[in-house]
Formats: sequence, structure tokens, C-alpha cells
Amino acid sequence: MLDKLLNSLVAMAPVACMAGILLAAGFRRNRVVWLLALLALDAWGWSSAGRELLVALAAPALALWVSVRPERPLLSPRNLVLAAVSGLGVWIAGSFGEAAIARLQGWHVNADAWPQGLGTIALLYFAAAFVCSLHWFQRRGAADLGASAALACAALAAIPSGSGAPAAAWLTLGAGLAVAGVLVQAFRMAFVDALTGLPNRRALDEELARSEGRLAVAMIDVDHFKRFNDRHGHDAGDVVLQKVARALRSCRGGHAFRYGGEEFSIVFSHNDMDRISEALDLTRKRIQETRVRLGKGKLPKARPQAVRKGNRNGEVHVTVSIGLAGTNRHPAHPQLLIEAADKALYKAKRDGRNRLVVA
Ligand code: GH3
Ligand code: MG
Ligand code: MG
Repeated sequence: MLDKLLNSLVAMAPVACMAGILLAAGFRRNRVVWLLALLALDAWGWSSAGRELLVALAAPALALWVSVRPERPLLSPRNLVLAAVSGLGVWIAGSFGEAAIARLQGWHVNADAWPQGLGTIALLYFAAAFVCSLHWFQRRGAADLGASAALACAALAAIPSGSGAPAAAWLTLGAGLAVAGVLVQAFRMAFVDALTGLPNRRALDEELARSEGRLAVAMIDVDHFKRFNDRHGHDAGDVVLQKVARALRSCRGGHAFRYGGEEFSIVFSHNDMDRISEALDLTRKRIQETRVRLGKGKLPKARPQAVRKGNRNGEVHVTVSIGLAGTNRHPAHPQLLIEAADKALYKAKRDGRNRLVVA
């Protein structure tokens, strides 16, 4: 079954690689661009009898190098050197003597005898896949995970006694997985806020545009946050925003978004205002009780004495003000609901902050 699917993918390897390269370049996933270019080179190597070995050796070695090195602009000097080396590899492969190629081929055919059943090519690709999965583990970028899967496929393509599927089919599958990784990451870049992990303003606009019937919107703003940043530093401010976002995410019955800056929204798909008010007030109290421990690295250099004042144990907290509006008292138009919730939020600020006001 899998073999049948892979066989049908053979001819698509160059197309899949090219599509992936264009997509990854569009979203500036430069490492994926280079890895896919190397997979395309590899696919060409597999399809051109007699030349494949040098190409097949150069591609995984360069893939490992690209994986280990930090990501650079697409046409950085380092990447241009990489392109030159790849080109040279292809040229040498093309003009290499028949006898040497035959010797290399013989060694490659016996590759499954060393080490532990894997050839050098597969080993290099697996190492590159491992490095890319470490990048993913560190940064959680889906493009790194896709690249890792693509390299693992390239490794499987190089195992002579693998599944029996043609090597180019594995490369097509790998290119497809790399494309999927770039697409997932592009989606996250468009709709998810990088700092808090909450869906962003664009996602909120789309959710509200699709909503119909009963609805309530809460606008949440961190109190005196400018002062907090000035006293404790921007890094500590970022940690606070992450903690606030975590509390808002767990608000019962609602869907939380980062509206922008230190402002958040929660959308409820019903307008039982008593139930919503209860959930929001619980969330407000939870935020008030959340303590943030200030690390040494997080202290502002300019005024460290301000940090010591009032929080001897190095712990700080923030409060939030909340405005709430629902379709029970306002028109079901999303923009009007947000405006009403915003007005209620400013009333909460005027009335002394750290409170919920229902419009
Ligand atoms: P209020 O209680 O009236 O809302 O006062 P405020 O100080 O919270 O309001 P103001 O609009 O004056 O300041 C908002 C601050 O939020 C200013 C800006 O530095 C900070 N801020 C916005 N986005 C971020 C962010 O991503 N990280 C950090 N650390 N601070 C942010
Ligand atoms: Mg604000
Ligand atoms: Mg504020």
C-alpha cells in the first residue's frame, strides 16, 4: 500500500522540491530553502545513472552543514559559498572518471554492511534530521519539524534495502512534509501571537466576522503596565503578559485572544452575563494572585533600586481591568460589541482599576 503510494510519487520529486523552495523562500524559511535545494540535487543524482554517487554524498554532507549552522539571509556570503560548493560537486560528479565512480558505486552498494545496516549517506541525513528536530525542540517552529521529517525521508531513500520504494519517491514525500511544515508555521505566523501563544487580532476579527446569534465580548487591559515595565524591565513585562495570557486562556466558556500590546479579548458564544461575569471575575482574581519572580537578568539596568522598593522577596504581580458587553443589551454587530466593551473597560479604569464593568 505504502509502496504503491510512493511509486506514484516518483516523478513528482523535482516539482515538489521546486514548489517547496518557492514557498519557503516566500516565508523566509531559509534553512528549508537550502535543504530542499539539496534534496532536489539528490533527486537528480538518483535519476542520473552513473553520476549519482558524488552528488548523493555531497548533498547529505551539505545538508548536515546547513542544519548545524545558524540560519542566515538567503544570499549571505556563506550561502553563496554553499551554492558554489554544490555546483562544483555536480560538475566534478559529471566529469569524474568511470572507474572511480564504479569503485564508489561498489562501496555504496555495500553500504548496508556499514555501520549497523545504514550507509554513510543515510547516516549523514539522519544526523541532519536530528539537528533539525533539536531546532524544533528549541523554537517550536513547524518548518524545522518539516525539515527534520524531509531529511529522515532522504535518509530512508539512501538505505538500499529499505522498503523497496524508489528513492525519488521518498524524496517527494520528504519535500511534501517540508512544505507542510512551512505552511503550518506560516499559519501560526499569521494567526498566533508569538509572545503569548494566544490567537492574535487577525484571528479575533475572523472569529467575530463568522459569529452569529448570541455573543459576548470582554476587553481586558493590564493596569499601569507602562509603570511596571519602567520599574521591572521589559523582560519581566513579557513574562507577566505570558502569565496573564495563560490565566485568560483558562477562563471558563471563553476563547481568549491577544488584542495588541497589553490588551486582550475573550469571546463567549453565549450571552448569559451572570455566568460570564462570574468566570471573568474568577480569572481577574487569579491574575491578581499570580506572582512573578524577578530573575537577576530581568532587572532594568537604569533603576535597579526601584525594583527593590516594595518587593523584598523579588516577587511582583499585576492586576487587570475588564469591560464586558453582550448581545442581550447591544446590537449583534462585532464592532459595536467591541466598542461597548471598550467603553466599559475605560469605566473600570476610571473607577479605580482591578475590576469588571458590564456595559
Ligand atoms: P492603564 O492602567 O491606564 O492601562 O495604564 P498602562 O500603563 O497599562 O497603559 P499605557 O497604554 O500607558 O501603557 C501600555 C504599556 O504596555 C506600554 C508598553 O510599553 C507596554 N507594552 C505593550 N506591549 C508590550 C509587550 O509586548 N511587552 C512588554 N513588556 N510591554 C508591552
Ligand atoms: Mg492599554
Ligand atoms: Mg494598561
